[in-house]
Amino acid sequence: MPQEVVRRHKHLLFSKGIDLNITALKGFKDILPEEALLWQRIEMTAREVFRRFAFKEIKVPILEKTALFARSIGETTDIVEKEMYSFVDRNGESLTMRPEGTASVLRAFIEHSLQNQQPVQKLFTLGPMFRHERPQKGRLRQFHQMSVEVLGANQPELDAEVMAMASMVLTELGLTVSLEINSLGCPKCRPAFNEALLLFLDDKKDALCEDCQRRRLKNPLRVLDCKSSSCQSHYQSAPSIIAHLCAECADHFRVVQAGLTSMAIPYTINSFMVRGLDYYTRTTFELLTDSLGAQSAVGAGGRYDGLIKQLGGPDLPGIGFAMGMERLVLMLQQQSSNLEPVQSGLFVAALGERARGIGFAMAQALRCRGVQVLMDYADSSLKSQMKQSGKQNCRHTLILGDEELSKGEAILRDMNTKGQETIPIPLPGVLGEWSAMLAEKIQ
Ligand code: ATP
Ligand code: MG
Repeated sequence: MPQEVVRRHKHLLFSKGIDLNITALKGFKDILPEEALLWQRIEMTAREVFRRFAFKEIKVPILEKTALFARSIGETTDIVEKEMYSFVDRNGESLTMRPEGTASVLRAFIEHSLQNQQPVQKLFTLGPMFRHERPQKGRLRQFHQMSVEVLGANQPELDAEVMAMASMVLTELGLTVSLEINSLGCPKCRPAFNEALLLFLDDKKDALCEDCQRRRLKNPLRVLDCKSSSCQSHYQSAPSIIAHLCAECADHFRVVQAGLTSMAIPYTINSFMVRGLDYYTRTTFELLTDSLGAQSAVGAGGRYDGLIKQLGGPDLPGIGFAMGMERLVLMLQQQSSNLEPVQSGLFVAALGERARGIGFAMAQALRCRGVQVLMDYADSSLKSQMKQSGKQNCRHTLILGDEELSKGEAILRDMNTKGQETIPIPLPGVLGEWSAMLAEKIQ
């Protein structure tokens, strides 16, 4: 670590009178409980859909050696050039907060020789990613992806299957997106396309942005990924990569499309889509929405047949995609039906110390039966407790007052219909049976 950085770090840690108004970092967001419900729904839906396609979860570290990302994502990509959170740790090693999931999953695959356990590995992982970008709606510095990889198989049907799985997650969430696909060819057909592209760029080079001038020399395909609209206007008439595919790649692309058609999954071909990572070969795809302004990509992925080998593993093919959780949350929030609170659970409104004691034991017994139970221990009035029950969206309230206790009864109120009924208070020995009966009644 440079001495100056260490000195400043220590100064900030130990100096008195520093700004105590500590807030979250720009581009780093708290997910508050109401929004977290949407996250849970997305995660549950994804896990369920992934199960249907026989994918298994893998969990990988957030921090990796910087070389892993430089070697996989590509030195001339925006991510590696401008966006990584890299730092030198106390041992003098360059580390990076992962900007995407594929590199880490592949590193784990290689490190544990997972191909020996099962020749085709279908893996998914969920978690945070870090990119130093300009924060805006749907674009954060810490964001979350669900990321999926199929390692060890190169059949085009799998490409179609992976796209079908991504689109099923969205359909099950009630979201509509469009699917764009492309093929980037393989090392065999890429040189001919690069040549055609270089020829096309030759007389435009002075009009291109600085980044593109550099990309043209280092990695011409990258120019097509430029965010500048002026550059993009030049690329409208660029040669199409699909027209330069070799016979095998063209055949692969044809079967991918036939697979999508047979599953009735609509798609369009976008021959300019090159994606922001260098490792893609053959099929690439994006899932797009027009409801999030500039941040139109909800998910994206593609095939990366040479990547496992490039990272020092066996020469095995792979394909994967990642979907941005924050963008899915934004889309769900735009659907008004999701904003309706759901009534659930039971509020035990006990009045007085004795009733509270009985209610306390009842609450525990009911929770053992799976019921969500809330209780107020502050000796509040019945009116106040009923108010709390409503505010917390409880479906039922169990009222335990002195009068009811003396009769050995409690009142069960349906907060929706406002109907009430009396139910017996159990003797201490039969609390288990009683709670089973009540749980069945109110769930
Ligand atoms: P974009 O074109 O929006 O920058 P990308 O091509 O960089 O996306 P990928 O690296 O393919 O995206 O990541 C897959 C998905 O992860 C994206 O489609 C998007 O939903 C999400 N994503 C990527 N970067 C961010 C970010 N900074 N904030 C929030 N979500 C993101
Ligand atoms: Mg990006």
